[in-house]
Amino acid sequence: MRELAERLAAVRSEITDAARAAGRDASELTTIVVTKFHPASLVRELHALGVRDVGENRHQEAQAKAAELAALDDLTWHFIGQLQSNKARQVKRYSHIVHSVDRPALVDALARRDGDPEDEVVEVFLQLNLTDDPARGGVAPERLEALAEHALRAPGLRVRGVMAVAPLGEEPRAAFARVREASDRLRSLAPDARAISAGMSGDFREAILEGATHLRIGTAITGSRPTPR
Ligand SMILES: *Cc1c(COP(=O)(O)O)cnc(C)c1O
Repeated sequence: MRELAERLAAVRSEITDAARAAGRDASELTTIVVTKFHPASLVRELHALGVRDVGENRHQEAQAKAAELAALDDLTWHFIGQLQSNKARQVKRYSHIVHSVDRPALVDALARRDGDPEDEVVEVFLQLNLTDDPARGGVAPERLEALAEHALRAPGLRVRGVMAVAPLGEEPRAAFARVREASDRLRSLAPDARAISAGMSGDFREAILEGATHLRIGTAITGSRPTPR
């Protein structure tokens, strides 16, 4: 727990420095600690250290942790992984924000259905694919507007902004500049959708320089991940 506290403090101070270097205020930034593959006990320790935003990328694992930690009701669960449409309704039950919306079928699966009393508004990010590989997840940047128009019409969805992972083999700052440009296009359709979910352990400084508002940081805070089961 002491090492965890030290890593968390170190990352928080690097975020503050990077924000200052970018002429921004660190209070504009939400740091999501990515806890995938780690046990619920780690999330509990993070909560005790003041963390309120956690990120998970696999439905079954996330659902089990959220259920185990239901008493920590001030935690916000962010779903950041690829999502099958047939799991969408279940993910919505425990996730407040889904960062990986990348196709109309997933929008429809997350949208509110009449008559379901448990149906709440879900916040979403539209995920961009910055690679040429469709298997990576995310919508091709040139198809962002069409997806956004679909999502903006869907009942029970609130579009917060764009999300992306910097591809290997590209300088992260250049990749995040492309994300910022896509964000500008989204905002011309939806002025409130100004959030940018970008930046991981290795590249959050570059993401902050290009306007990221939501950082998804795993190993720099949690230490290395256990092998997935
Ligand atoms: C795992 C993951 C992260 C965190 O990665 P680290 O390199 O451990 O910081 C961020 N975003 C997504 C989509 C992830 O799957």
